[in-house]
Amino acid sequence: MKPQTKYCNKCEQNLSYSEFYKDKSSADGHQRYCKHCVKQYQTSFNDKFSKKNITRLLSDPSVSIEKLRLYFGVYVEEDFTTSD
Ligand SMILES: [Zn+2]
Repeated sequence: MKPQTKYCNKCEQNLSYSEFYKDKSSADGHQRYCKHCVKQYQTSFNDKFSKKNITRLLSDPSVSIEKLRLYFGVYVEEDFTTSD
């Protein structure tokens, strides 16, 4: 049986799974950081790289979303360029 909560390594709190975005590639199917922390990360992500730059980065075959993901430590939402 799955635990009801998941520990966020970023804000160091146990939160319910509904507070985490889903991530099919992760062991428990959820991202390691909670939605709140991911949002904060994505804000700084967007500050560092404009959408245009990200589009350019992602169109570069040597830069995969996996590399960006590893670099930033969070999953980059496929639709992260759209407003919430
Ligand atoms: Zn968190």
